Amino acid sequence: MPARVISGKQVAADIRRELAGRVERLRAQGVVPGLGVVLVGDDPASHSYVKGKEKACQELAVHSVVRRLPADAGQEAVIAEVRAFNEDPSIHGILVQLPLPDHIDEQAVLLEIRPEKDVDGFHPMNVGNLHIGAECFVPCTPAGVLEMIDRSGVDLKGLQAVVVGRSNIVGKPVAMLLLSRHATVTMCHSRTRDLPAVCRNADVLVAAVGRPQMIKGDWIKPGAVVIDVGVNRVEGRLVGDVDFAQASEVASAITPVPGGVGPMTITMLVKNTVVAAERTLG
Ligand code: NDP
Repeated sequence: MPARVISGKQVAADIRRELAGRVERLRAQGVVPGLGVVLVGDDPASHSYVKGKEKACQELAVHSVVRRLPADAGQEAVIAEVRAFNEDPSIHGILVQLPLPDHIDEQAVLLEIRPEKDVDGFHPMNVGNLHIGAECFVPCTPAGVLEMIDRSGVDLKGLQAVVVGRSNIVGKPVAMLLLSRHATVTMCHSRTRDLPAVCRNADVLVAAVGRPQMIKGDWIKPGAVVIDVGVNRVEGRLVGDVDFAQASEVASAITPVPGGVGPMTITMLVKNTVVAAERTLG
């Protein structure tokens, strides 16, 4: 039987409905959640991501402000925008769209964001809190991955989870979240030996690599849940890191690309912004 498709669009729509009620309750108490975005340069993908974020905010009546800086803006100019958002009480969440141009030290900029406004969850304080299991903002894509697993009815306790990819923004935080839910987690990367064999052990397989359709059907354990974070453009269309057609013959549930993890990422950003606004009310 082909795998059940876990629709990110559907899950995101459900979460947005829940968020609409929370935004309304905040507004009734005089608080309009606000997101401040700093966008540097003219990378088309970054511009398109920021547009998507603005649109999602608009749809949920969340206030958003985008500060656009030219590609040659200095680090101090970027930091000045972050500091202005830090001081602005109408802004509850701050996002610096990554990647920044090469001449800017990304970590130095992220360090400037007040942790309580760090809705992307990249400040070392939030990263550390995620590791020790304390309250924190979880990065949006990993939070979306966990939400999709949760809402597909999988109980992670005791399962073998394999995460392919160990980036700071996806692989590592996904692994920490799975671990916090008592999965037994294996993290893989470009130096992992016999990756197909490791993947075949996975009850839950998360792919965050950036290599089109690298993960084949015969890498997947029958009945596994497969979450494909990868977004790759091949001949004008988007494909994931997993060979969807092959994998859906073996897995019990799988996320598509597009329409899987992608729609979740922006929704989790709005959710984190709403949470940040709620926290200002105690
Ligand atoms: P990075 O390039 O930062 O990390 C890729 C990871 O994959 C690295 O850990 C790398 O290993 C590993 N890797 C590369 N080649 C192989 C290989 N042949 N075998 C095993 N591991 C390998 O990517 P990101 O984490 O930022 O993104 C991953 C994918 O997710 C991309 O397609 C990206 O577009 C997508 N993405 C999607 C989002 C969404 O909202 N849907 C959001 C963010 C990302 P090593 O560390 O050894 O180099």
